[in-house]
Amino acid sequence: MSPDLAVENGTVCRAPGAAAERRATVVIRGGRVAKVGTNATVPSDVEVVDADGRTVVPGFWNCHVHFTEPRWAPAATAPREALERGLREMLTRWGFTTVVDLGSDPRSTLPLRRRIESGEIGGPAILTAGPAIYPPGGIPYYVRDSIPPDVVDRVPQPADPEAAAAIAREILALGADVLKLFTGSYVARGTIRPMSEPVARAVADVAHAAGRRVFSHPSNLEGTQVAMRAGVDVLAHPPDTAEGVDASRVREIVSHGVSMTPTLKMFAATVSRSAAYLDPILEIVREFRTGGGELLFGTDVGYLTDYSTEEEFGLLERVGLDGPAILRMLTTAPAGRFPGAGPARLEPGAPGDLVLLDGDPMADPSAFARVRLTVRSGRVVYRSP
Ligand SMILES: [Zn+2]
Repeated sequence: MSPDLAVENGTVCRAPGAAAERRATVVIRGGRVAKVGTNATVPSDVEVVDADGRTVVPGFWNCHVHFTEPRWAPAATAPREALERGLREMLTRWGFTTVVDLGSDPRSTLPLRRRIESGEIGGPAILTAGPAIYPPGGIPYYVRDSIPPDVVDRVPQPADPEAAAAIAREILALGADVLKLFTGSYVARGTIRPMSEPVARAVADVAHAAGRRVFSHPSNLEGTQVAMRAGVDVLAHPPDTAEGVDASRVREIVSHGVSMTPTLKMFAATVSRSAAYLDPILEIVREFRTGGGELLFGTDVGYLTDYSTEEEFGLLERVGLDGPAILRMLTTAPAGRFPGAGPARLEPGAPGDLVLLDGDPMADPSAFARVRLTVRSGRVVYRSP
């Protein structure tokens, strides 16, 4: 049973671009938004949170996470408190109420999701890719070391379209909601192995026939073009080997309707913050956006073990995004890509997911990282101390 909750006396921003409503109330009943606005009355039988003038926005999406750290391995049997702490540190403390897991072991992610959805554990909605699919011999060097040698051969690395389609069907049958490809894989530092286009296309065709989306890790121009031509829906990163990815190439990607999660902090934190490395990546994201491309918020946490979103918002500002544009990445853009999977706007009937923020993120996007309270389906899943 979802609890009922009212957040009153907040500055409510129902959606990107909507005018702020001061001293407004959001009432959540049975896990869904029942009333919003300055005239919304609070029923006598619900828990009430005083927002104290803080900003209330819809719950956030993170479209690039991983449940691969050791803490998730025993998710089927671990104590509730331990899993809730992990979810809080990595996700709900940063406002995320819906996440897309782009590669993990379904033996841990599926039980984790079941325990959240049963109401036992407070946490975000999880869409999962299950295991990622690689080119033959194409497990990235930074992943290979963490896989036991006897398991390496069983990691999906289809050699031809028939094998690829069979693997895609198998992963969907396990319970995956999306599929994840490495159309360009760093098999060694500075060495990228592409996936063949027919293999990528076979996976995309199976996914699309089942109404599912496909993400790809592209790495460079070739990996990006394989993804684009194969019909991939979302680039899980911009290509960070930026050679040849000029404005006209970026416009071509946009014209194919491909979305992108920028994951800028991940590049900065795990590779380099030098301008020589980072500026070309920022330029690709800038070009993608000014060309009309759709950006989805995603940080690669789980792979990245520093979970703070602060630097990502700062880098998105450097790319030229303002508060409403970033809120779009966090809410309506992903909700449009995954209809029914999570919140877009705070309006009656929508999922009862919201975030309470210190400050005004429309004027100062760093406020998106100052989360005071996170609510999913009417349940408080994070409250700042
Ligand atoms: Zn990732």
